[in-house]
Amino acid sequence: MKKDRTHLLSWVKEKLELQYGPIEKNQDRTPLMTLIQTVLSQNTNDDNRDKAEKGLWNRFNGYREIANSSVEEIADAIKTGGLQKQKAQTIKKILQSVEKDGKYTLSHLNDLEPEAAWKKLMEFDGVGKKTAAVVALFALDKPIFPVDTHVRRVTSRLGLVRKGEKHHETLTGLVPNEEMYQFHLHLIQHGRETCKARKPQCNQCALLERCPTGQEVVT
Ligand code: SF4
Repeated sequence: MKKDRTHLLSWVKEKLELQYGPIEKNQDRTPLMTLIQTVLSQNTNDDNRDKAEKGLWNRFNGYREIANSSVEEIADAIKTGGLQKQKAQTIKKILQSVEKDGKYTLSHLNDLEPEAAWKKLMEFDGVGKKTAAVVALFALDKPIFPVDTHVRRVTSRLGLVRKGEKHHETLTGLVPNEEMYQFHLHLIQHGRETCKARKPQCNQCALLERCPTGQEVVT
């Protein structure tokens, strides 16, 4: 059974790479920058996240200034991303709690085991499983598979994650470490463009041949 699923996973990865092309890991952000960016991305699209991030750095001159500003001021700077008050509170609290001797960093998490780093990130108020996993995988090189709504939907429909299983844990155990980054991004792209929530485009899907949900939809 495990062998079948491993074969299916390899096949899906290959098909998605053929369709969307290889993706190089972007290594130019620190873990703290990635955490703030991921908080800003909650419940919004990439464009509005980028505008909110730009608004933050246009308004404030560094982490200290953000940490010392009011939630209202921070919220005003990031309002294009929505949920600004909640996100401003999260960002301010994160910065206040990571400050040590005037420095703002999460680099101490590099020394932790993957799961321990993931759990440590989830201790911040407003940081859930997905946000913590994105920071762990993208910025700390920890093999923890981030699961958003697209990843959840596509992997369930394909039968890569089965009823009753937990997506984070199953995919973290199943996907080879060095392939997690690209596969995560490919699944999101596939979920946005083809395997949509309401009307999946199964007839145009490169994965139809081995997708049990797609087979049901088209027959
Ligand atoms: Fe999604 Fe349909 Fe493709 Fe399956 S065949 S992955 S359900 S779009």
